[in-house]
Amino acid sequence: MEEALKGKIGSLKKRRISAVENVEGFLKVISHKNKAINAFLHVNEAAVEDAENVDKKLKKGASGRLAGLAIAVKSNINVTGLPITCASKTLEEYYGSYDADAIRKIRAEDGIIIGMTNMDEFACGNSGETSAFGSTDNPSAPGMIPGGTSSGSAAALAAGMCDLALGSDTGGSIRNPASHCGVVGIKPSYGRVSRFGLIDSAMSFDQIGAMAKDAYGCALLMEVMAGRSDYDATSVNAAVPEYTAHAKKTGQSIGNLRIGLSRDFERLCTDKRIYGMISGAAKSIAAKTSSKIVNVDLKYVDLSVQAYYPIQYVEFFSGTRKFDGRRYGKRIEDSCGEEVLRRILGGMEISKAEYQGTYYRKALMAKRLITRDFEDAFKKADVILLPTTPVLPHKLGAKITDLRTVYAYDAFTIPANLAGICAGVVGAGRIGGVPVGLQIMAPAFREELLLQVMAACEKPGGSDGGGENGRA
Ligand code: GLN
Repeated sequence: MEEALKGKIGSLKKRRISAVENVEGFLKVISHKNKAINAFLHVNEAAVEDAENVDKKLKKGASGRLAGLAIAVKSNINVTGLPITCASKTLEEYYGSYDADAIRKIRAEDGIIIGMTNMDEFACGNSGETSAFGSTDNPSAPGMIPGGTSSGSAAALAAGMCDLALGSDTGGSIRNPASHCGVVGIKPSYGRVSRFGLIDSAMSFDQIGAMAKDAYGCALLMEVMAGRSDYDATSVNAAVPEYTAHAKKTGQSIGNLRIGLSRDFERLCTDKRIYGMISGAAKSIAAKTSSKIVNVDLKYVDLSVQAYYPIQYVEFFSGTRKFDGRRYGKRIEDSCGEEVLRRILGGMEISKAEYQGTYYRKALMAKRLITRDFEDAFKKADVILLPTTPVLPHKLGAKITDLRTVYAYDAFTIPANLAGICAGVVGAGRIGGVPVGLQIMAPAFREELLLQVMAACEKPGGSDGGGENGRA
């Protein structure tokens, strides 16, 4: 809830609570609940000491924007001295030797790294079940998958184990678990946040992004992390707006928007109850903000999944060549799980000279068509609203043998990565007791607009505050 985080920041500043108390409170929850939920793979033993140092700064009135807040980090982002395993046996023994740009910026604002979270192995998956260290439970719908691949980060937030969390999103890995766990998450535009220190899944899609209980928390973390870095040539030199100023909860701050819905997404949505909830949310936000709903054509989005996977496989294959057993732990092919191996072998095959024209180049062409589709759509609409996943999460451990069914989970999240635009998720309500996230897309580098709309779409009770039938 916006007030909850904002209120806590105020209390820390006024020293009604100390950073140490805040961190110790979370450590207690983690020690009680983590065994069952498996959100954290590692807790930072230096967290309390770090908090003591932040308390000294708070006392002097010279603290940063994240002073005393506990931040959970996905296990594919480098943090000095902590195990950066990518939830894989391959990197079981690998400890970060430097801070990723995002971590360096968080520390500079006095945020406290509370621990490393569970995830799908090497960020390949969408259920949180491919981790070599066991799957994560969904605290908001126990027994169901939390979504992936940033499963541990979403679950840690939902279980009250941290204030904020970092995830990474290649094809939906922030938005999908945010939706299933009833929290809020944002995938920034490609190039908005430095990828330096993030272990690649597919370098042309990956972005580190923010996860929180509300849009305000995401805005705060984005404000700290965004911006160009000399260490990442793909990061873009564009001014970083004051995102927190835009993430006001009231609908009054926006008006006369053109809110896009697309029949092309409606068609792809297998569970009609989900689409019904999302279009209902769009109507209610339109009414609240005196905005109008427009239909946008996205005629190539049904190619998204077919375009994404060949590119992801090839880039993943290339990115994993460094895990040859000589520099970082074990040789990946000897130590990884089934899904990771599938992608390595598939990527190797697709990138063979004789197949490049058949798969890889065709996929790049489809990517271009989808990007253009969005450029046109954003001439008609300021933002586009759609579901996060076409179906509800399945039960943990349920065997889904058809790969196409597994990959179809990503049909609504992948398009934003292909087009390089920004997209976020806030809670829309619950169906059958399970949280359902509303996804909002905005043009590239319009995170301030995105966060503004996300905040306006949030329910007063926080992201997961909605009842069974969604919004009023
Ligand atoms: N599910 C997609 C994949 O497995 C996306 C994962 C991600 O965003 N890291 O590639």
